[in-house]
Amino acid sequence: MTEDELNFAEESVSEPRKPKPREWLVLIVDDERDVHESTVLALGREKVCGRELRFFHAYSSTEAREILSAKRDFAIILLDVVMENEHAGLDLVKHIRDDLKILDSRIILRTGQPGYAPELDTITRYEINDYKSKSELTRNKLFTTLTAAIRSYAQVRALELSKRGLETIIKASKELLYLRGYQEFASGVITQIAALLHLPEEGLVLVKRLEALDDSAAGLQIIAAAGRYSHLIMKPLSTLKDELSIAALEQAAEQKQNILLDEETCLYFDTPDGTEMIVYLAAGIEKSREEMQLIELFSTNIAACIDNITLLEQRHEYAYQDQLLGIPNRLSFLQAIDHHLQCHSPSLQIVLIDIDQFGALNDTIGTENGDLLLQEISYRLRNKHPHQLVARISGDTFALLGPCQTLSPEKVKAVFSKPFEISGTSHTLSATQGRVVLDNQKSATEVLAQANVALKRAKQTLRGGFQDFHTDMLKETESRVHLLQNLRQAFDQERLFMAYQPKIELATGKLIGFEALMRWKADTGGYVAPLEFIPIAETSGLIVPLGEWALRASLVKIRQMRKRFGSDLTMAVNVSMVQFAQPEFLSMVDAALAFAEAEPESLELEITESFAMHDFETVCELINDIHARGIRIAIDDFGTGFSSLSYLEKLRVHSLKIDKTFVDRINENDLDTRIPETILRLGHSLGLSVVAEGIETQFQADWLKSNQCDFGQGYLFAKPLSAVELEQWTRSYASD
Ligand code: C2E
Ligand code: MG
Ligand code: MG
Repeated sequence: MTEDELNFAEESVSEPRKPKPREWLVLIVDDERDVHESTVLALGREKVCGRELRFFHAYSSTEAREILSAKRDFAIILLDVVMENEHAGLDLVKHIRDDLKILDSRIILRTGQPGYAPELDTITRYEINDYKSKSELTRNKLFTTLTAAIRSYAQVRALELSKRGLETIIKASKELLYLRGYQEFASGVITQIAALLHLPEEGLVLVKRLEALDDSAAGLQIIAAAGRYSHLIMKPLSTLKDELSIAALEQAAEQKQNILLDEETCLYFDTPDGTEMIVYLAAGIEKSREEMQLIELFSTNIAACIDNITLLEQRHEYAYQDQLLGIPNRLSFLQAIDHHLQCHSPSLQIVLIDIDQFGALNDTIGTENGDLLLQEISYRLRNKHPHQLVARISGDTFALLGPCQTLSPEKVKAVFSKPFEISGTSHTLSATQGRVVLDNQKSATEVLAQANVALKRAKQTLRGGFQDFHTDMLKETESRVHLLQNLRQAFDQERLFMAYQPKIELATGKLIGFEALMRWKADTGGYVAPLEFIPIAETSGLIVPLGEWALRASLVKIRQMRKRFGSDLTMAVNVSMVQFAQPEFLSMVDAALAFAEAEPESLELEITESFAMHDFETVCELINDIHARGIRIAIDDFGTGFSSLSYLEKLRVHSLKIDKTFVDRINENDLDTRIPETILRLGHSLGLSVVAEGIETQFQADWLKSNQCDFGQGYLFAKPLSAVELEQWTRSYASD
């Protein structure tokens, strides 16, 4: 076996071609050993078209078939016509072209006997390059013949290569376009380039985005890696010095061009948007004109693809990023949850964080400052939770996703412990949290819905605190939905009615008016408490028509009562925050007064302190308008809210109502009168009258009376009464 045969035996045919050294492969097929030897002797040291020749030897057509079935890229096949039999050579030619479909190898037929020359049509049909009798082939002639044939082979190959290259490039661009995002695209580029240049899939793709203002190679980040480099993914180039010689990469980045070395290839791409990309392959490529053209063509296509990818990334960014805060948005958050649900990631939790009173604050400080505030909150949240996903899922609601043990309510609370400095003003904020553990939920939307249920609950009961989700809550939500349906029905079927509780002047015991309270008699015969159904009516918006109806009914009643029992009686009607915030509120009140033909002076509206927390200017204006009509305004449940006392000074209200919980503490056995005292002092100092509600004992009435509380209502005097009962009660009270 010759040295060449040994080499051949070692080389696995399916392995990608080794690019070095470049040589032309020549197969000599001849049954005469000395022909082999003389050919190698004659040509062995020559270079043809810049490359050395490498010989393979077959001593029969059968042996030639074996070699050709394993290795096809021979430039030249020097073929003896007559071997085992007269046709052996021509049969082999037929086999090469027809069966093996080796079309680019050039065939030179040689024969010892001129008489065995093939027919002309055989020569043309099988693309036989030359036909020479062995005696004709002197060393010189053999060399010229071979050179001509190799030239022809190179041309055919170039054509073939560029045709195949084009196909590959077109296919590659098409496939690359379907890949979303740089990372996927980049690993696609490695695959496609390796296929195109017949190189092993072993390399890196580095990208420098425009944002990396740094002009050096340091801004390059590895975004895809294949083969032995796989572990380097997402590392910046600067950290690779120990793992890889980066000189070529640095050179490509600095010179902004391809660097083609014997053992390494760096292809440089850039796009108009400033993205730069370098593909690093751990092998040299053939620097023939054809291959260079291919690379150029490929580069142009890739550049176009990078442009597309940038667009796609931007679209992706718009779809998945919060544009104000540059953090993931709701969609992105949902995707992350879905991913973890599918992977059954253990012990993960999501936390929804709602900024308390953000809407009101935003109205007061303006949207621009509101945005700054959100940015600061987002910054602090991410700082405090560097390893968790932080997203904004709606206006003032943030969300965290991370391992249960790392997401403590205290940690989130700590984010709000220091005031926020916005445009020179300091704002103290708090946030309420709803939490849920990822478990067996079917989808991300379900998880988020559960967290929302918990958040809502927390907001109702403990603002600034947190609530974990329990499945029981769903039952409660269900029953709330059920209750709302029933309430709607009851309203439609006129099963709601108003009850009226008398209000007494404490100093004189004189009846001064009533408070209207809504009542709902359920199908079952029992009563549903307003504290149960009013909040549901509020959240569903049903309170608006319900409240209008209540106002009309109460005004009709007071008109009757004034006619019968005294023209100075008043009717206090409770107004929900939701109603009050309606732009049509005042015209609704006007219409109700007109409908009932009631005087504005007969009406008192009870609002709660939380109004003052809404846009203060608007509330002030509205209250002024109400005041101007002669309608009285009372602040209900005073002392239970958080309104600033300075607000109170500016609001033109008439009275404060001490909440029942404080009246309860005016108790013989356990006297605690600090709050009623304060409210009385405050109310009187502002020129307001003070009403105590929920008076049940004579002791309470006496204490309040001796402390100059103006008015009182409570079971001690009367429970809320139906319209009919009210008339009887008033009649008997007046006669007492
Ligand atoms: P509120 O306006 O503070 O009404 C006073 C509540 O205290 C009423 O409860 C009344 O029945 C109760 N009450 C009065 N005196 C006593 C007493 O001596 N002892 C005890 N234990 N309770 C007393 P009610 O009727 O259950 O109403 C609860 C809340 O529902 C009201 O608190 C008010 O905020 C709301 N509400 C009632 N009717 C309406 C309405 O028509 N519209 C609106 N928006 N809210 C209403
Ligand atoms: Mg009230
Ligand atoms: Mg009250």
